[in-house]
Amino acid sequence: MRPARALIDLQALRHNYQLARQLSGARALAVIKADAYGHGAVRCAQALEAEADGFAVACIEEGLELRAAGIKAPVLLLEGFFEASELALIAQHDFWCVVHSLWQLEAIEQASMAKPINVWLKLDSGMHRVGLHPKDYQAAYQRLLATGKVSKIVLMSHFARADELDCAASNDQVAVFEAARKGLRAEVSLRNSPAVLGWPQVPSDWVRPGIMLYGATPFEVPQAEAARLQPVMTLESKVISVRELPAGEPVGYGARFVSPRPTRVGVVAMGYADGYPRLAPTGTPVLVAGKRSQLIGRVSMDMLCIDLTDVPEAGLGSPVELWGKNVLASDVAIQAGTIPYQIFCNLRRVPLVYSGD
Ligand SMILES: *Cc1c(COP(=O)(O)O)cnc(C)c1O
Repeated sequence: MRPARALIDLQALRHNYQLARQLSGARALAVIKADAYGHGAVRCAQALEAEADGFAVACIEEGLELRAAGIKAPVLLLEGFFEASELALIAQHDFWCVVHSLWQLEAIEQASMAKPINVWLKLDSGMHRVGLHPKDYQAAYQRLLATGKVSKIVLMSHFARADELDCAASNDQVAVFEAARKGLRAEVSLRNSPAVLGWPQVPSDWVRPGIMLYGATPFEVPQAEAARLQPVMTLESKVISVRELPAGEPVGYGARFVSPRPTRVGVVAMGYADGYPRLAPTGTPVLVAGKRSQLIGRVSMDMLCIDLTDVPEAGLGSPVELWGKNVLASDVAIQAGTIPYQIFCNLRRVPLVYSGD
C-alpha cells in the first residue's frame, strides 16, 4: 500500500478550539468550510460537537453534508444563499444565514418561509468583497426585522488584514463597523483566526476561527498566541528508493537541482497530485527518520526527492513528515509562495487517518 497519508489529530483540534474560546472570551463558531480546510468536515464536526457553540461553512451544500451526518449544532452559511430557492431548506434545517447583499434581503422579504431564520447581517467595513455598504446597514437591519421572518440578527464583518499585526487597517474597519451599528442592540461577530490571536481588543460576542483550529498560524512572523496552537494534520510518507550520486548530477524534471557534492537522494511517495505544492523549491524543509532535511529538485506528480546526505541513518522505508508537528505547514507554505490555508485545501488522494476521537 502506498505509504502517503494524512494523520488528523482530533485532540489537537479540540485544544485549538478551546484556545480560541479562551483567548476571545466569546462563543466560537468552528469554521469547517471547504471540508474543514481539507481535514474532513464531518469528522471534525463530530469531534467538536460536544463543546462547539456551532459551525460555519461556505454554502448550503456543505451544511447539508453535516446535517446528513447527524450534526445538530448550529451551522452558519458564510455566504448565505446563492439562489432564493435555498431559503426553504435553510429554514427547514435551521441553518444560520449570512446576508451580505441587498438582493438577499429582498429575497427574504419576498419569500414565504415555514419558520423564521437566524440572520448574520454582514457589513462591508473595508474589505470591499461582500457585505452591505455602511450607508445601507441600519436600513437593512430595520427591513429585516420588519419582515417578521428573522428570529435573531447578529451583526458581522470580516477583516482583510488582521494577519498584519502592525497594520492600522483592522482598527479602521472596527471604527467603520462601530459607526454603522450605532444604536443597534444586537450581538456582534468580527474576528477570524488572526483577529482572535492578535487583536484581543476587538469586541466580539462570537468569533469565527478557521485556520487556527487546524493548528497553523495565519501570521508570517512568530506570534506568542499562535505558538500555543497544536498542528492537527501530519502529512507523512516513506522513502521508497535511495540513490548515491556523484557531484554534478541532475535530479528530477528540468534538472532543477544539480548535486553540488556527492549526494544521497531519497525518493518519497508524495507529489503534487497529493496536494504537496509543486512550487516548493529546493530547500523546503522535511523531516526524515526524525531529522530535518530538505527537498531537492522539482516536485513531480507522485514523487519528490529529498537530501539524505547528512542523515546517514535514513534509508529505504524511513518515515518522512512533509508537514505536521515538526515541519510546520506554514513554513512549507512560505517556501512555496502560498499560505497554509491553500496547502491544506489542496490535499487530495491521500487517505485521512484519524486519532484522538
Ligand atoms: C473563512 C472565514 C473565516 C475563517 O477565517 P480564518 O482566517 O481561517 O480564521 C471567518 N469568517 C469568514 C466570513 C470566513 O469566510
